Formats: sequence, structure tokens, C-alpha cells
Amino acid sequence: MHESLKLSRSVEQLVTGQATSDGAGVKLTRVLTQSLQRRLDPFLMLDAFGTDNPEDYIAGFPDHPHRGFETITYMIAGRMRHRDSAGHEGLLENGGVQWMTAGRGVIHSELPEQQEGRMEGFQLWLNLASRDKLQAAWYRDFQSADIPQFTTAEGVMVRVIAGQSHGVAGAMQRDTTQPLYLDLHFAAGSRFEQALPASHNAFVYVYRGSLAVGGSEVPRQHMAILDNSPDTDGVLLEAAVSARALLIAGQPLGEPIVQYGPFVMNTQAEIHQAIHDFRAGRFAAASD
Ligand code: MN
Repeated sequence: MHESLKLSRSVEQLVTGQATSDGAGVKLTRVLTQSLQRRLDPFLMLDAFGTDNPEDYIAGFPDHPHRGFETITYMIAGRMRHRDSAGHEGLLENGGVQWMTAGRGVIHSELPEQQEGRMEGFQLWLNLASRDKLQAAWYRDFQSADIPQFTTAEGVMVRVIAGQSHGVAGAMQRDTTQPLYLDLHFAAGSRFEQALPASHNAFVYVYRGSLAVGGSEVPRQHMAILDNSPDTDGVLLEAAVSARALLIAGQPLGEPIVQYGPFVMNTQAEIHQAIHDFRAGRFAAASD
């Protein structure tokens, strides 16, 4: 039984992102930049990294703090070691996801555990509601086998990192922001429909091949921001060639966003407090 969409969302804007570097000099593309935080609320950032050159990633991300949001790291290729101030440690590798809630504060490092070969993946920042920003830090590693997945009759393989798709619940659920995070692998000539509440902000990032999104062509390494027309009920993705893409959506918080580097709060005063607490060493024991 296949229930079709009544009306797909269309592409409102195509974004290529900005080449930048972060951490100790990791080269990456910031796809979702600060200027899009309001438009794509509750998402604050999406970085894409992908390189065969160890010089682009080898220095990694040494100890740094976060407060006020969640980071979701999805590895496509390569291995990254994570350690944090609460004593957590984990190895993130091919197809695995790390979901970290920084909450009131964590200091962590994210360091490559390879000297050569390909490193590829994504880091998404998901905002926390004002009332949740100072909750205790939390994190979980999901190995690739822990990510629920299914393949449609048309040959689209769907990895459900968060939310749910076609009745399959993802690895993570969040009540307030209701994030949907899908990694979609399309066979040539396949199509996929995903139901989406019209009020949720949503985007597609194509990282292999190309896709038609709501009828508009989206080339590789482009993000398509989807419109929020109230009469739409989802999005139609069609692949003429084999393709891979992330489909990400969530319920906007509608709260003020004030970012200072790795701190994202609601007011400037809360940013000053975060800097003060970090300098005073109050991020060190994240789980107490
Ligand atoms: Mn980090």
C-alpha cells in the first residue's frame, strides 16, 4: 500500500556553502552558515567534510567547549576518536553517528584515528529550547549497525538517524524539535517520498550524483532549502542517476538565537555567563 503525497514542497533556495577550516585546521564546507540559522531553525550549522588528503584533516579538533545545543556527527568514511570532560570516550567510524547534547557545558576533542585514507562525514548542530539549554551533558555513539534502515520497493535505501520514515523509527527521537535526519541512497531511476509537516523547516543536501527535489534539479554538493507552503504535505525526491543525499527537517523553536563560537544561547547575557563559566572551569565535570 503506497500513499502518495498530495503536494510536494519545492526548492526555495539553492546553497553551496562556504569553504572554511575549523578546529586545528580541518578543511570543510560550511553548508548551513550562521546567516541561515533563523530560516532553518532549529538547525544551527551543517558542516560537510570529505577529503583523501590527510593534511586536510589530520590535526582534528583538539579540546574545545560547547554549550546550549546538540551536535550530531555522521561519519561516511574514516575514523574519529571522541573524548570529553565527563570521561566519555568513543570511536566513530564508517556509517556511525555520535549524538552529543552539550547542554550546560562540555569540553571535548574530536581527533582522526588514521594517518591516511579518506575522511568524509557531516556535523549538524541542533538547537535546544531555552528551558533545555542548561540540562546535563549527554552523549551516545551509534555504530553503523545501530542505525535503523530499510530499502523501498524502488531501490532507495533509507538510513533513519532521527525521527521516523515510512513507519520506521530512527535511532534518536527528540520531542521538542522533532528532528528528522535521513541518509538516502538512490538507485538510478528511483524516487522517494517523505511526509513532512508544512511548519517544519527542511532541507536536502546532495553529496553524490544529483536529484530532482520537488521537480527542481539539485546538483551534488548543494543544499536545497524547501519551501513551507501550508498546502504541502511532504517532499518528492527523484534520482535519474544514482545519488546520495541527506534529508533533514525539524520543528522550529521560534526563540532568539545568540551565537558566540561554540556557545549558542538566547541572550547576550547568557553568552557572557557561558564564557565566565568556561573560564572558571565549570565545564570540566559535565555530568555532575
Ligand atoms: Mn565539537
